[in-house]
Amino acid sequence: MLGWLKRKLTTSGHFARLDAGRFPAFAPGSVWLVGAGPGAPGLITLLGYHALGAADVIVYDALVNPGVLDMANPKAEKIYAGKRGGKPSPKQADITLKLVEHARAGKRVLRLKGGDPMMFGRGGEEVQTLVRENIAFRIVPGITAGIGGLAYAGIPVTHRDTNHTVIFLTGHDEKGGIPQGVDWAAIATASPVIVMYMAVKHLPSIAEKLIAAGRDPADRVAIVSNAALPDQSVRELRLDGAGDLADASIPTPAIIVLGPVSRYRESFEWYAATLRENSFG
Ligand code: SAH
Repeated sequence: MLGWLKRKLTTSGHFARLDAGRFPAFAPGSVWLVGAGPGAPGLITLLGYHALGAADVIVYDALVNPGVLDMANPKAEKIYAGKRGGKPSPKQADITLKLVEHARAGKRVLRLKGGDPMMFGRGGEEVQTLVRENIAFRIVPGITAGIGGLAYAGIPVTHRDTNHTVIFLTGHDEKGGIPQGVDWAAIATASPVIVMYMAVKHLPSIAEKLIAAGRDPADRVAIVSNAALPDQSVRELRLDGAGDLADASIPTPAIIVLGPVSRYRESFEWYAATLRENSFG
């Protein structure tokens, strides 16, 4: 009996600390730009969770796990704004316009993005529009795939024995090609670790550019597909083996890490089959 009471008190006490009164108010007419984390629904922040419960309108991207949306207020209007290769996608301008319209109509607008909204997620562009349109907003950071996704594969993004720097790179520019603005010669040898987003398609040519600029062809590459999701898988290769990847099918989304940190994976790997049965991560 006492044990039961204690359990009850502990549990309710825990949830009591999540009382909405302790969270910042989600004001009508404002937009919250929230990172949903890299996959597992349990990786959203408490502020993100609070926003899900308070929002009137949720504009979400393709990489947002449906399990995250399940936590939303059932009365919220959910609008899909996904942009994934091959399928017709709403234009960025239309998405931001939607945010502005709903905010002007007095709604609490939640803009939900995979990972962290400011990491290769065009969060900055959306904020620019909100600023220009004089709409109140808040940014709620999320766990980015290039850090948290790697952790789910047992890869530390830094380790004192391997790297004091990390470069985050996108493998795509807005036209779908390899990004032109990147100084490949400069980054090739600047950091032991390069984390690459949206880079599966162009990995062979990225590898070529890096090797041509002096990167060790024997460097390790780990490709983590569906990170922090039950179907997570990892493919490891040498940098100069990337050319053979062109035909192979790598499940996406995938985050790629170049450099020595993936060597820890073998002993760190912790996201076991039984853990994957837990839908929260
Ligand atoms: N804002 C996001 C990144 C958006 S760009 C973030 O901070 O994580 C989309 C890219 O993110 C994908 O092409 C992939 O490289 C990476 N990504 C996002 N979710 C992922 C996941 N669950 N597993 C592996 N890579 C993921």
